[in-house]
Amino acid sequence: MGQAEKVVVVVFDGLRPDMVGAHMPVLQAFLDDNLRFSNARSVFPSLTRVCTTSVSTGMWPGRHGIVNNAFHLSGDLQGRLVDTADFAALWGLKERSGAIVTSASMGERLASSGRTLWTMHCGSAGSGLLINHAARENGHQTFSIHGAVATLTPEIVPEIVAKCGPIPEQDLPRLDVVAYTGRIATEFALAERQADVTVVWLPEPDTSYHYCGIHSAQTQSAMRAADLAFAEILETISRGTFASTTAVIAMSDHGQIATEALVDLKNILRDDGFKAGGAANGDTDILMTGGNMGELRPISSDVGLLTELGHWLMDRPEIGMVFADPDLIDGALPPSAVFQTHARSAELIYVMRSRDEEGPRGIPGIGPYTGGVPLGGGMHGGLSDYEMNTVLGISAPGARKGQVDDTPASLIDIAPTVLDLFGMDLDCDGRVLPLFEPEQEDATVEELRAARGGFAQRLLRQSIQGRDYLIKGGRL
Ligand SMILES: [Zn+2]
Repeated sequence: MGQAEKVVVVVFDGLRPDMVGAHMPVLQAFLDDNLRFSNARSVFPSLTRVCTTSVSTGMWPGRHGIVNNAFHLSGDLQGRLVDTADFAALWGLKERSGAIVTSASMGERLASSGRTLWTMHCGSAGSGLLINHAARENGHQTFSIHGAVATLTPEIVPEIVAKCGPIPEQDLPRLDVVAYTGRIATEFALAERQADVTVVWLPEPDTSYHYCGIHSAQTQSAMRAADLAFAEILETISRGTFASTTAVIAMSDHGQIATEALVDLKNILRDDGFKAGGAANGDTDILMTGGNMGELRPISSDVGLLTELGHWLMDRPEIGMVFADPDLIDGALPPSAVFQTHARSAELIYVMRSRDEEGPRGIPGIGPYTGGVPLGGGMHGGLSDYEMNTVLGISAPGARKGQVDDTPASLIDIAPTVLDLFGMDLDCDGRVLPLFEPEQEDATVEELRAARGGFAQRLLRQSIQGRDYLIKGGRL
């Protein structure tokens, strides 16, 4: 512990580890030369705002409270979906339930010892808030690509514009946004008033995977742009005052799989007599969300309806996993198995049925989805290997070099590992990753299975140092 003066975290949103080698030579060299965690994993659901909050708190969603990218609130089911991308929705969540994030964050912990955190999260406005939700109170700096109205410290925006030029349009692929974010990092955040911890969250290749396809030429150009931004960040660090005392964490938050069939789950439910809908109105009994996974929340506390819904899901060929209280829905796995134990967690969560088979251009990972991107685009949220496996490589003063560690690691380990580099700790779900020596303990494997009729599902977890990790899951 206590090995670094500065930490720089670079997140490549959505980047699959198996796609680094072909398009990102600088990142590949960084991973080869330093300590790479080959069994790094996302959280569930593997969605950006959930992931962002797990990075910022070291907690599973069951503790930090951002239980989905968008969710309804039980006990307050007025049809107002909490879309965590949206600043106003997050402030509304605070008003309705007392807090946005319900556990301590890395930013708060750093601030408690007078340390600083500079975040540039260039995904949604909500993500920019969740990466350090108490930035303003703690005197930290934060920036969102959506400008002053979506930045907790809006006074920083004119300074950045003066130095780096106007904020670019959100074109597809996000080449300009990636380059601009790299410029803020190198010409501003790492050049002047460098914070103790700097987090640079690039929106690619996630956006291109979604809208152009995992296999597309646009996606490859987005990966190259992200690699170039990373190269410039590394170069800036190497020329700076803290070159030999800076730790660098390069990572992604989840992967993606290709969509192969659009399933209109809402209308299939309605055809079978379940009044499902995305918003409460006179004709809706069940509030739902979708994508590669989603929630189903009966508006009334009708246990019979919940059981019926759960069994209906298991009878559908497009459904991969069902999480609910097994005493109410036999064949379900308990939400606690995926750390969905928050008061905000849905009673019934489904995951679409994905396959590890090859999709377009031979890239493995494919499955049906309920909407959100064009058919053939990439999607995530589920528990398949290609959604859960993330990129994670770390260089730190004195850390192991040129090694691959296959012990389980996850987004929840980032905050405690960063803090430990300053000799600080964080009471959280994650562990301090073994940067300096391998752990003297093998991870144990736990397989959870549940079945009903022709439906059978399995969830693989691992444990090490008393911490549990989600590896992958799916329908058998
Ligand atoms: Zn993401």
